[in-house]
Amino acid sequence: MIRIVEVGPRDGLQNEPTSIPTRVKSQFIADLAEVGLKEIEATSFVHPKAVPQLADADDLWPMLSGAKFSALVPNSRGLDRARALGVDRIAVFTAASSAFTEKNIRMTIDESLAVFKEVIDQFHESQPNGWVRGYLSTVFECPYAGPVSPEQVKSVTESLFEMGVDEVSLGDTIGVGSPKDVAAVHQAVRGFDQGKIAWHFHDTRGTAIANTAKALELGYTIFDASAGGLGGCPYAPGAGGNLATEDLVYFLEREGIETGIDLKMLAQASLPILEALGRPAQSKAQLAVLAAHK
Ligand code: MG
Repeated sequence: MIRIVEVGPRDGLQNEPTSIPTRVKSQFIADLAEVGLKEIEATSFVHPKAVPQLADADDLWPMLSGAKFSALVPNSRGLDRARALGVDRIAVFTAASSAFTEKNIRMTIDESLAVFKEVIDQFHESQPNGWVRGYLSTVFECPYAGPVSPEQVKSVTESLFEMGVDEVSLGDTIGVGSPKDVAAVHQAVRGFDQGKIAWHFHDTRGTAIANTAKALELGYTIFDASAGGLGGCPYAPGAGGNLATEDLVYFLEREGIETGIDLKMLAQASLPILEALGRPAQSKAQLAVLAAHK
């Protein structure tokens, strides 16, 4: 059974300067649930000044229904907000490259892990059965420090599991990887439970589907994607970022893997957001479906 984790509402929107009204986001998320996406990362309880786009998390969260929703929680303050709303699925975010975490969250990897340990322990106090996902970005290459060793990916993955994370999502944050990179990281992390490792591919250079095919072949079953390919890569201006959910769903279905997702409806779901952002659709599968149903 393949699991698709939809990250568009959080990862896709977080770097967008154009503010999207909360009701447009909630409708977008409702549509994503309606088309059959079962796991959706809806928002982040990050400081509103750090990510103004997601400053409405407290208002948005109570509006959600119809799927399993998670939210990114960067620290104890964010956790307090999430706890007040009864959030039972959270995500934390670090990287395999210290240069990346220092630029992004102003902490070394070890400092970020110390913060998460506290966040996860506090979270489990109020949500004993709560679910935690750990994002591990830059697993192939860091935009500041270059190539990342698979051993480093293994080491941080191990730390995340040790502190009680239920799932680790390995991210090719700048979208540089090819199947060879996937195989190399697989060699390093193969000792962990494969059912607890997700892949978060970016399509910046058009390799996300090839990487997905490789990961499937190696036995992985959890894939992150963003409807409409939302989420430009902030480290490569002008380039595409997240793998589009439409491209992933088309590929999986064509390979004979049922997703339970209505691709035609999915192709429509991100249009109001793209319109609000003044962006054309970029996902090839989305464009093909939209053209076929004009
Ligand atoms: Mg991403």
